[in-house]
Amino acid sequence: MEKSRGIIILDPGHGQFGNPHTTRAGFYEGTQNFILSSFLKAELESLGFDVRMTRNKVEDDPGLVERGSMSGELGAVMFLSIHSNAPGGNPSDERYPKVRGAETFYSVSDCEGNAPIARDLTDAVVRTMGTEDRGIKTRRYPDNESIDYYGVLRSAAASGCKRAFLIEHGFHTNPEDSAFLQDSDCLARLAKAEAEVIDKWF
Ligand SMILES: [Zn+2]
Repeated sequence: MEKSRGIIILDPGHGQFGNPHTTRAGFYEGTQNFILSSFLKAELESLGFDVRMTRNKVEDDPGLVERGSMSGELGAVMFLSIHSNAPGGNPSDERYPKVRGAETFYSVSDCEGNAPIARDLTDAVVRTMGTEDRGIKTRRYPDNESIDYYGVLRSAAASGCKRAFLIEHGFHTNPEDSAFLQDSDCLARLAKAEAEVIDKWF
C-alpha cells in the first residue's frame, strides 16, 4: 500500500437541519455542507490523503471544540471547515438576498503560512461558482488577539493544527449562489477544484 500523504480533517458545518436556504424550502446549509464534504473526501482520498470527517453521518452535530480538536489529536496536516454564508441584518431588507460571494478565513496561529493557501482556496471557489470574490480574512478573539474568533479554528490551533481554514461557499440566502449549492454536480465540481489546491500545497 502506498504511504498516506497525511490526515486531513473535513468539518461539514452545523447539523442536518442547520440554517435553511431562504431560496428553497427543505434545503439546509448543514446538509449541503455534508454533501460537499463527502465529495471532497472522495477526491482527496483518490490523491492519497487520509481523510476524516467531524460528522460521519448527516445527522451528527458535534460541538465546535470537539470538531477542531480532532485535528491535533490525530496529527492532521490540515483542518478545513465547510460552510456557506448569510448576511447579518434584517432578512426583509431588499439588499439581503443580493449579497453574494466566497471568502476563506484562516487561523491566526500562522498567518504567513496560511494566507497564500487561503487565497488559492478562495480563488478556486470563486472561479468554480462564478461568484464574487470576498477575499481572505482572519477574525481574532476580542479579548485575546493571538487566538481565533471562530471556535473550530481556535480549537484546531490549540490542539496543534495550525493549518486551519473555514471556507464560506457563497451565500445560501442569494438566489444564484444558492442554486449552485443545491446542485450535486456543481458541488462535485467544487470539491474537485478545492482538492487541486490541497494537492498543490500538501
Ligand atoms: Zn455555516
